[in-house]
Amino acid sequence: MGGAEVSLEHLYKVFTMPEGQDSKLAQIEKHLSDNLADFLSQHVVTKVNSLEQIEKSFAEYAVPEAPEFVSKHAETLLEKLVANSVNTYSPTFIGHMTSALPYFHLPLAKLLVGLNQNLVKIETSKAFTPLERQVLGMMHELVYKQSSDFYSTYLHSANHALGAFCSGGTVANITALWVARNKALPATPQFQGIAQEGMAAGMMHHGYKRLGVISSKRGHYSLSKAVDILGLGRQQMLTIDCPTQTLSAEKALKVGKQYQQEGNKALSIVGIAGTTETGHIDPLDELADVAQELGCHFHVDAAWGGATLFSQQHNKLLKGIEKADSVTLDAHKQMYVPMGAGMVLFKDPNDSNAVRHHAQYILRAGSKDLGATTLEGSRNGMAMMVYASLHIFGRKGYELLINQSIQKAQLFAKMIEQHKEFELVTSPTLSLLTYRIVPEKVQSKLSKNPKIAHALNIELDKLTVAVQKRQREAGKSFVSRTRLQIEKYPEQSITVFRVVLANPLTTELDLQNILDEQVSIALETQTWLSLTT
Ligand SMILES: *Cc1c(COP(=O)(O)O)cnc(C)c1O
Repeated sequence: MGGAEVSLEHLYKVFTMPEGQDSKLAQIEKHLSDNLADFLSQHVVTKVNSLEQIEKSFAEYAVPEAPEFVSKHAETLLEKLVANSVNTYSPTFIGHMTSALPYFHLPLAKLLVGLNQNLVKIETSKAFTPLERQVLGMMHELVYKQSSDFYSTYLHSANHALGAFCSGGTVANITALWVARNKALPATPQFQGIAQEGMAAGMMHHGYKRLGVISSKRGHYSLSKAVDILGLGRQQMLTIDCPTQTLSAEKALKVGKQYQQEGNKALSIVGIAGTTETGHIDPLDELADVAQELGCHFHVDAAWGGATLFSQQHNKLLKGIEKADSVTLDAHKQMYVPMGAGMVLFKDPNDSNAVRHHAQYILRAGSKDLGATTLEGSRNGMAMMVYASLHIFGRKGYELLINQSIQKAQLFAKMIEQHKEFELVTSPTLSLLTYRIVPEKVQSKLSKNPKIAHALNIELDKLTVAVQKRQREAGKSFVSRTRLQIEKYPEQSITVFRVVLANPLTTELDLQNILDEQVSIALETQTWLSLTT
């Protein structure tokens, strides 16, 4: 029991007074700010408890009756929560897009929470609103490179928005397709627009049977959530097979034409700039032409890969992104900003008006309240973290970070190719690659005939799954896994390790150790034994 008193006096203290120097919370704060890596290595226990065990310490379902001392509670958090957390800062945690953050975010986070501004309206975020608009403008310029006249007209315009800041790529994708949907079923003299009259009336009025979104099979599942929530239905997510990992413009055109001939309307093509699973980039330039030919919206989901635009060496890979009507970017991925920093950018600043909403006590017509064109309501000032990062790293700093992670991915790909027991499955376009473990003895058999390969692949899948799980459970390093269809085996999907080289502190030695560990785990499995004897 915490044993704090139930009095207003005590509660006032909780609101206003910091904990004493030697309290647990003060110790945590000091340790965090003295040496973050040391704090994490001391408190995040690497040998993890099972999820079931952890659930037991979160089993109480009644709201605690009495208050607890802050310091006492801090101890509980350390024991129950922090100890069982995942050390995403570890240089050997290379399985996800979530990685270590630059240190300055810690004190900035304190400032952010301290100020507690609400970006939904100017009245609670006076300086943060213009800051957020500026951040959107900077990212807009990175993508669209409009004139200085353009930015001086629109950056702070009450009647326009260059984009919407939001919690992440999911909300950004939903917002982009929301705008596209409302534009696809516009008002006419006989119809007040879908936002007023609804989907069914809009479809009837404009004479469409269905509205659909075209993307490759590698599209992020947030697109599927978007077509669901926007009333299109998940079956109208027209995903196209992509054994080469990128969307063929030719196939997209064919699918779109066919769909429209059947009385439907293609709402949008979504090009992906850095797929979540393999990091590939769709042919954006060609897809822009397809969208034009179909007369539909062109959205680019660059949630992960968008930061590549900072690199003059690699930005050509995203050629055509400037033709997109809207672009999704996640600053909490390759821009090293804490989670909760997504953006959708609109090429045409009028597009945001397709979803503009007014309310009396807030979001009054003509106000500059950001909440009028964002899906979310109350929002914190995460844009400050993007703003700070853009200044602290600068374009050139980000360029270095992007270049080094791509270089490291290429190095890792080479290490995998040169290793007897591994097979590189997809080489890195950016800093993401997939591979699997294939015992040397099995490699020659794989190319013999499709039937043998089919059976072997099933065994190799088991091996990859077993190795990935055991490596994760051992807690030294983490590589994720996914299932892919690749050109070599068109008839079946295979299981692969997936690596995202996000942490700049990951070294060649770390990578070597990860491969060594995978081999030694594999050698102990039954599957390895049966595959090699
Ligand atoms: C991560 C990602 C998303 C989803 O973003 P969240 O920030 O997780 O909501 C969407 N698309 C792509 C390509 C992504 O990599």
